[in-house]
Amino acid sequence: MSEKPKIGRRDFMRVAATVAAGGGAWAVARRGDEATVWQLDPAKCVQCGRCSTNCVLNPSAVKCVHSFQICGYCDLCGAYLQPGAKARDTGAENELCPVGAITRTYIEDPFYQYTIDEKLCVGCGKCVKGCNVFGNGSLYLQVKHDLCVGCNECSIARNCPAKAYQRVPVRTAYLLKTRDSGSGKQG
Ligand code: SF4
Ligand code: SF4
Ligand code: SF4
Repeated sequence: MSEKPKIGRRDFMRVAATVAAGGGAWAVARRGDEATVWQLDPAKCVQCGRCSTNCVLNPSAVKCVHSFQICGYCDLCGAYLQPGAKARDTGAENELCPVGAITRTYIEDPFYQYTIDEKLCVGCGKCVKGCNVFGNGSLYLQVKHDLCVGCNECSIARNCPAKAYQRVPVRTAYLLKTRDSGSGKQG
């Protein structure tokens, strides 16, 4: 297994240059006069897993996000259950998430709600792939700016096979998925 890249001095300098935005400290860079941050385009992402393994942070600054506006509250959730799971229940052996970050809560027959514990999520994208293949794509990955240290050369951006990573102005920091957007909208 390849070793994770370490945070370099330049990146620590960047942490020191964080700004307060959206209720938390964000590490930003400047392009001309404009402050920028890294952003992931959920419409391009193919859930290759590198967002989990290539971030300098452990766990990654990339997390799974759930659009409840899109989600139909499935019984048989392809993001929660292993393909071919023997039972539709909360048994660990049936869960797809490797770190148990998804909670399945009964709402009303036959629907369950699925919530992500961001502190546990490692951004592997397995649930996102399951949701896109078997469901409606309500789960997606996004870089969290209150966690990201804003590396000058983000190794995820360098290695993303879908070129889904790019720097964008702070005012358009979060590309969010909604029922109307399909691919996403600026949040
Ligand atoms: S590296 Fe790119 S394609 Fe892979 S999970 Fe991250 S954003 Fe998606
Ligand atoms: S810039 Fe990229 S590698 Fe650095 S913390 Fe943010 S997401 Fe991780
Ligand atoms: S399967 Fe991966 S991306 Fe989804 S919640 Fe679990 S750790 Fe996060």
